[in-house]
Amino acid sequence: MIILLDIDGVMVPAQAWRQPEFLNDGFPVFAPGAVEALQKIIDTTNAGIMLITSHRFSYSIDEWHAIFKLRGINALSIEILPQLKDAKTRKEEILHWLNNTVQVPDFILIDDDKSLNGLPENQKARLLLTSGSLGLTADLAEQFLAKQ
Ligand SMILES: [Mg+2]
Repeated sequence: MIILLDIDGVMVPAQAWRQPEFLNDGFPVFAPGAVEALQKIIDTTNAGIMLITSHRFSYSIDEWHAIFKLRGINALSIEILPQLKDAKTRKEEILHWLNNTVQVPDFILIDDDKSLNGLPENQKARLLLTSGSLGLTADLAEQFLAKQ
């Protein structure tokens, strides 16, 4: 199982009215509720993480491990969604990956990007769409896990 994970609007809620808070590594703080919820999903599903955020190429895998660890998340594995040149939407990137992966693993997609509502039904069932201003919450995670 793999968690296709966005960061902005998921782990870092978008709060237009104030500047994000950063930790010493220069990356924004994750919301405490999002940390709890993501760890719960990882613990329940034994899933690794595949980053789909636009920040994914800014850091190495080792740096990503350190970023997650510093924020209290024990990630079993971290990988990065391959780049799709000229992709206009997150939906396009995800569909390209799905269509070009020989054996698509079981996955959960956590993102605040509404373009993903346009995914085909069987893939949309694996989408946990967050509100960008609230991010991932324990309630959302529980509801989602209950119907998997
Ligand atoms: Mg986002």
